[in-house]
Amino acid sequence: SATTSKPPLTVHLCAPRGFCAGVDRAIQIVELALKKFGQPVYVRHEIVHNKYVVDGLKAKGAVFVEELGEIPADHADRPVIFSAHGVPKSVPADAQARNMFFLDATCPLVSKVHKEAEIHFRREREIVLIGHAGHPEVIGTMGQLPEGTVSLIETEADARAFQPKTDQPLAFITQTTLSVDDTAGIVAVLQERFPQIVAPHKEDICYATTNRQEAVKEVAPRVDAMIVVGAPNSSNSQRLREVGERSGCRVSHLIQRASEIDWAAFEGISTLGLTAGASAPETLVEEIIAAFGERYDVTVEIVRTAEETIAFNLPRELRELRDAAE
Ligand code: SF4
Repeated sequence: SATTSKPPLTVHLCAPRGFCAGVDRAIQIVELALKKFGQPVYVRHEIVHNKYVVDGLKAKGAVFVEELGEIPADHADRPVIFSAHGVPKSVPADAQARNMFFLDATCPLVSKVHKEAEIHFRREREIVLIGHAGHPEVIGTMGQLPEGTVSLIETEADARAFQPKTDQPLAFITQTTLSVDDTAGIVAVLQERFPQIVAPHKEDICYATTNRQEAVKEVAPRVDAMIVVGAPNSSNSQRLREVGERSGCRVSHLIQRASEIDWAAFEGISTLGLTAGASAPETLVEEIIAAFGERYDVTVEIVRTAEETIAFNLPRELRELRDAAE
């Protein structure tokens, strides 16, 4: 029969994978705002870095803009939501100046890093941020303090070349979605050069980033190929693809949809590792499994390396609405 002619493929499905508590909360904020205030609801920047999620919210009446200035003046009374990545201080200030009603979907774990930056600043420490230039979270974290206050370090080479701007004590903070291993290397260089540098009390790299990388480390060495479901502009997804590659996987691809699968690259495999970035919905993971199911006789094995139970509160303005719906 057709079934027996398909080659066997074992899919090692990483757990945890996909949505984290911050992404879940951010999407709920947009959905509940649409319910409460009707459309349009404006969202500054992609609420989370995933086209499927963004398109789904657009269809429900969300309008995505990069800057508040793009919102038509006669829509200044419509709610505007700030994305999960966080925003520089100037953004809520600007919204207030324009009399806009805003809801902040910044992940509480990003807000925690913002608060650390402020505390270091108040204690007159010079701050180093480990992160990727241009990522909205980095722009938001640096923008908690006056321009030029925070120095950005992206690599170990940057850490070796870094020259403090002041003689104040040093402190470092990080982006939440970095490679755990790369960051450890950068921190080691900083600590060797500046033994007194103040570190975060609790890691700034978030639980979701850490857990998803751990699961890939467990799975990648046992499979012929890895697929990470996620967007090219998603930092945590890019890091998962790298972890797969460094863990010795011949093929480690980051893709958004099943239509992007490069079938030639996967020829001859009998095991596949599969995970999803923190902003990628489970339905896209299912789509990938179904696509392989058309060519292979697929068995799915779940490889769980951590349990996640964390959930975040919604903003007060939306909490009652959610409770009423339950
Ligand atoms: Fe928050 Fe981490 Fe998710 Fe980013 S990846 S939204 S920091 S839980």
